Amino acid sequence: MANDCIFCKIAAKEIPSALVYEDDQVAVFNDLEPQAPVHVLIIPKKHVANVLGLKAEKELAGHILGEVVPALVEKLGLKDGFRLVANTGAQGGQTVMHLHFHLLGGRDMAWPPG
Ligand code: 5GP
Ligand code: ZN
Repeated sequence: MANDCIFCKIAAKEIPSALVYEDDQVAVFNDLEPQAPVHVLIIPKKHVANVLGLKAEKELAGHILGEVVPALVEKLGLKDGFRLVANTGAQGGQTVMHLHFHLLGGRDMAWPPG
């Protein structure tokens, strides 16, 4: 666990959160400030800083994109579409430095993002 990492603490259940989905590698919970009717954060339980950290975690990357996302699409009723976002680094707007994919849905999405 990375020191003082809030998402490590959520994954370790040091901070109690209602998990939408959980398995041995991943936890999923509602964003504190939802930007859409469905807005969950998909995090690895292991501390990975951002998507570039997946270069060393290809099995985890495949698990998230190939298994967890499709399961959530089914569970959360997002078959008509959704947005999957990984803000990365300071210029990418990342504010929590533990990898998280935002999964947003339940409304029409605009493009371009701000
Ligand atoms: P980022 O800006 O890094 O892409 O996204 C961080 C997200 O984490 C934000 O959407 C913010 O609302 C959410 N967030 C930050 N702290 C917490 C927390 O303690 N609990 C939950 N559920 N979400 C959080
Ligand atoms: Zn962490």
